[in-house]
Amino acid sequence: MQVLAGKPVAELIRERLRQEVAKLRERGIAPSLHAILVGNDPASSVYVRAKAKACQELGFAAQTHHLPAETQPEDLFHLISSLNRDAQVDGILLQLPLPSHLPTPQFLSRIAPEKDVDGFHPENVGLLWQGRPRFVPCTPAGIMELFRFYGVELAGKRVVVVGRSDIVGKPMAALLLAAHATVTIAHSKTPNLEAVCQEAEVLVVAAGKPALIRAAHVRPGAVVVDVGVNRVEDKAWVMRLFPGDQERLAELHKKGYTLVGDVAYSEVAEKVRALTPVPGGVGPLTIAQLLANTLHACRLRRG
Ligand code: NAP
Repeated sequence: MQVLAGKPVAELIRERLRQEVAKLRERGIAPSLHAILVGNDPASSVYVRAKAKACQELGFAAQTHHLPAETQPEDLFHLISSLNRDAQVDGILLQLPLPSHLPTPQFLSRIAPEKDVDGFHPENVGLLWQGRPRFVPCTPAGIMELFRFYGVELAGKRVVVVGRSDIVGKPMAALLLAAHATVTIAHSKTPNLEAVCQEAEVLVVAAGKPALIRAAHVRPGAVVVDVGVNRVEDKAWVMRLFPGDQERLAELHKKGYTLVGDVAYSEVAEKVRALTPVPGGVGPLTIAQLLANTLHACRLRRG
């Protein structure tokens, strides 16, 4: 079984970006990413900090606009509009989830499409489904890089995507379709998920449900991509999912939790041809791809 590690792929993307940003900087241009963080969700704060750090490492300019949780809609609209107008801003990222009183779709639609580096604006979603993408959502874009890096064939293959979110499942399906795969999208109302997944020569799982996919779900020799990131705190469950994995147990003991994918790793690994680990699979690719989109935004506007 081949472990599809994300790190070498992310490093390759980063190296390419480092070189291209260095060239732009010689012309006095530093591609810039502005992140908007509303409230104090701990996971969101961690993600925004990681994005800013990656920007710094590669020579991008980065700024975080941190607004209080009780921010009113007009204040957020105002900030987005001012970033839209600012010629020095290449990419705008609205960290999700927003507090519940702020309607996410309305704000995503306010970001200028040519600065929408997450690819969530309706115009960019439409372009993606028309097969002429401008900004591709970062996680599915990263997964396509992973397929290219490891030589996973997609044309003519039966691919199943579990999950239909706007962030992962739907754009993933659009990209796979564009790559000539025969695509099925499964979700929480899909009857007999096991039988649907067994059809898959390539299976991409983004459900946010720890160990949803068991050995019985996968076809022997399949390629499986596990997008899920879930905290598991129960020791007995961790021991069942990762038998004999002392590192996992040590992590659980130290942090009080361990990160687990949507795929029951050990039992599925015995049956498939290739599988992404969690952590260390899809995760490292998402931020690398965000920076690639920011560079693309800079090129589109500033040549
Ligand atoms: P989401 O918005 O919650 O969507 C989950 C999708 O999975 C929904 O379409 C849901 O179906 C489906 N689903 C839930 N339970 C199911 C079940 N039992 N059987 C079949 N389908 C089921 O989540 P998301 O934003 O797409 O994220 C999915 C996972 O990926 C999460 O664990 C998230 O943390 C992770 N993630 C990781 C990265 C990364 O960089 N590594 C990036 C993004 C997301 P319905 O539509 O019917 O509700």
